[in-house]
Amino acid sequence: MTKNAQELKALLSSPKKIVITTHKGPDGDAIGSSLGLLHLLKQLGHEVRIITPNGYAKFLHWLPGNNDVITYDENEVESNKITSEAELIFLLDFSHLSRIATYADAIENSNATKVMIDHHQDPDSEIADIIFSDTGACSTAQMVFEVIDAMDMTTYLNKAIAECLYVGIMTDTGSFKYASTTAKTHNVIAQLINAGADNAKIHDLIYDNSSATRIKLLGYCLNEKLRLYPENNAAIISLNDEELKRFEFKKGDTEGFVNYALAIEGIKFAIFIAEKDGMVKLSLRSKGNFKVNGIANKYFSGGGHMNASGGMSELTVNETITKVEKIINKYKTELNKAN
Ligand code: 5GP
Ligand code: MN
Repeated sequence: MTKNAQELKALLSSPKKIVITTHKGPDGDAIGSSLGLLHLLKQLGHEVRIITPNGYAKFLHWLPGNNDVITYDENEVESNKITSEAELIFLLDFSHLSRIATYADAIENSNATKVMIDHHQDPDSEIADIIFSDTGACSTAQMVFEVIDAMDMTTYLNKAIAECLYVGIMTDTGSFKYASTTAKTHNVIAQLINAGADNAKIHDLIYDNSSATRIKLLGYCLNEKLRLYPENNAAIISLNDEELKRFEFKKGDTEGFVNYALAIEGIKFAIFIAEKDGMVKLSLRSKGNFKVNGIANKYFSGGGHMNASGGMSELTVNETITKVEKIINKYKTELNKAN
């Protein structure tokens, strides 16, 4: 057993008050890994709550344990109380406190032992006492499985843990198609299926359960909002507030849209821009060795993985498009050569 796993196992040997938190705008991996871990910790006799900085897409609400999740932005007082009483805090799927927005102060001020499990670059070693970091891992959910395994606790795997971790791995690997998907990933998935994860049901609930307006919004984006820059191997899709309202936008509705731009022959860099909560948010995706996390960090105060990153813009949607066009031109040669 690794030293980290040993230390964690020792901490978990007596009942504790535990908080699990994850990054703002939680995605399938953030929620799946958090809930998967929650179901393990509850079996071990701990009192566990998940506190997310804000809410998340409805397609994740069916996950077992969803009712144990509190959103910080809507329940500040309760969240602060639970956080100050926690003896152990897990930080999942993020590596810098800036990723948990206004919840960061409460975490920083807490005296709890903190454990980070994460697959992002350059983890901030100041924010946790025990750090499980694997930038090569496809997902935090896979890492949670590995931590459970390293603590010799796979006997606790059940349907609830398996479904949650399956969702995390499936969503962060684009349904097992990204390069981060390895034989190890499939091996973990096999064990999750053996533990009760119903793979066909999970794919259906996550991907084939959209509102009609979401599918129509996708159609609108592809028909009317796709800007192609074939000489630069790039494409942009953008949506403003009015358009989102027109299609009755709900959290999570535009997730995955950027991948359609990337699915076009010759496109190696796809950018999705949308006005959300009074901000302009960007999703950057790329193929091959063209890295987008540096671009997200340099131009949009963001970050992420080599081929999937995000960030913000202080400009309007149209000004952001112009800024992105300049970036595309600047990286033209690199994009042409990327493979
Ligand atoms: P998405 O485009 O799906 O919102 O985000 C893709 C990935 O980029 C996320 O998994 C996360 O790793 C990263 N990411 C998204 N937004 C931000 C941000 O504002 N800051 C940082 N550091 N990373 C982000
Ligand atoms: Mn992740």
